[in-house]
Amino acid sequence: MSKFQVPRGTQDVFGKEVRQWHKIEALIKEMMNVYGFDEIRTPEFEHTEVFARGNDSSDVINKEMYTFMDRGDRSLSLKPEGTAGLIRSFVENKMYTQPDMPFKYYYVSPCFRYERPQKGRMRIHHQFGVEVLGDKTPYIDAEVIGLGLTFVRTLGLNELKVLVNTLGDNESRTSYKTALKEHFKPDLHTLCSDCQRRYEQNPLRILDCKVDANHSSILNAPKLRDYLNEESKNYFEDLIRILKDSGVEVEVSDRLVRGLDYYTHTVFEVVSVNKDMGSQATVFGGGRYDSLVSDFGGPELSGIGFGMGIERLLVALNAEGIDLADEKELDVFCVTLDDEALDYAYHLSNFLRLNGYKAEYDYYRKSFKSQFKSVERKNAKIVILLGKDEMSKGQVVLKRIETQEQVTVSENEILHQLDHWLNEDHVCDHDHQHGGEHE
Ligand SMILES: [Zn+2]
Ligand SMILES: [Zn+2]
Repeated sequence: MSKFQVPRGTQDVFGKEVRQWHKIEALIKEMMNVYGFDEIRTPEFEHTEVFARGNDSSDVINKEMYTFMDRGDRSLSLKPEGTAGLIRSFVENKMYTQPDMPFKYYYVSPCFRYERPQKGRMRIHHQFGVEVLGDKTPYIDAEVIGLGLTFVRTLGLNELKVLVNTLGDNESRTSYKTALKEHFKPDLHTLCSDCQRRYEQNPLRILDCKVDANHSSILNAPKLRDYLNEESKNYFEDLIRILKDSGVEVEVSDRLVRGLDYYTHTVFEVVSVNKDMGSQATVFGGGRYDSLVSDFGGPELSGIGFGMGIERLLVALNAEGIDLADEKELDVFCVTLDDEALDYAYHLSNFLRLNGYKAEYDYYRKSFKSQFKSVERKNAKIVILLGKDEMSKGQVVLKRIETQEQVTVSENEILHQLDHWLNEDHVCDHDHQHGGEHE
C-alpha cells in the first residue's frame, strides 16, 4: 500500500470522468442562464452557527459536520449543504434590495459530511443547487421542480419518479406535530435513540427514520394531510395541477419529510427507479422554507430550492448506461518530415491554437511512423505535413484523414483550408484551389 492516498470518502476525478463533469457543468451554466438564475459562490467554511442554528434535529447538522476551532479560537464548519451559506450571503449583502422579485440563484459547491461512504455518497460531494427567494406562489415551486427535471432529462436520465408532499404552513404543522407527539408517546421507548431525540426536536423526522421504517407506530402514524388548513391544502393542490398541466407526473408521498427542519409547504424528491440504485436513489430533492431568510436577519421572504449531488447524478447516469464523455479529438496534427521543420511545427501549432483549432505536433520529432501512431491515438482530423522542400516553396501539404484527400496550399491558405474542411458553415467567397467540393 502506498504511503500517500486520498482520505476515505474522497476521490480524484480525472480522464473520461472529468470530461463527464465538464458536460454537467456546461449544461448547468447554459440552463441557469436561460432560466435567469445568477450564481453565488460562498466560502467552503462558515462560522458554525450559520449551519447549526438553534435546535435542528437533522443528522447532517448534529452528527456529520466537519467542525473545528481555527487558530483564532473560532468555531468553523465545512459547508455540509448549500442553502444556509447562500441565504447568509443573500442577507449579508442585502441582495433583497434589488427591485425584481423573485430572486433566483444557483450554486455549484463541494459539501462536506462525515458519514459512512457509500456509492455516490462521499465525504466530499459536489452539489448543484438553486434557490428562489420571494413571495410564494406555486408557480415558483413548479418551476424549480420542473427545471431540475428538465436538467437531468437533458443529460439523458429516463427512469425517474417525482415524489412530492406538503408539510403545510406553520399552523398546520404545529397541530400535526402535537398529534404526532400524542401518537408516539406510548411507544416512544420502543423507538431508536435518534427518534427519542427527534421526538423533542422535530417529531416529523421520526417518519423517515431508517432504523424504525417498519415500526407499527410509524406505519400507523396520523397523516399530515388530515391536519392541513385550507390555505395549505389549496397551495398544494394548485402545485399538483400546474405540474400535471405541464406534463410532469407526480406521486404524492405522505412520508416524504426531507432531512432538514426548515421546510414548510412543498417538499419533493426526484428518485431514480433504476434497479441498480438501491437505497441511494435520490437524484435531487428540496423544498420550500418560510423562515430561513428572516432567521438570518433578512426580511420575511419565502424560498424554495433543491440540491443535487453530482457524484450521485453520475451514478444514476451510469446505471442507465449513459456516458456523457465525448471521445477526445484533435483538429490538426503537424507531422514533421525532417528536423528543419520542427521550429515551423512549433510556430504553426501555436498559430492554429490562436485561431481556435486544437493543434498538436510531436515535440520530440520521433519517426514518421510513430508520429502517425499519435495521429491515430489522438483522433486527429487533419494532418499537416511539414518538410524543408515544401517550406522552401512557402507551401504545406494538408491531409484529411476521414477521406484521405490531400492538397498542397500556400501558408496563407492554411486557415481557409481548415475552415473549409472542419466548419460546416464554411463560406467560400473567392476562387481558389482546394480539396473537396462545396455542398
Ligand atoms: Zn428511529
Ligand atoms: Zn473554401
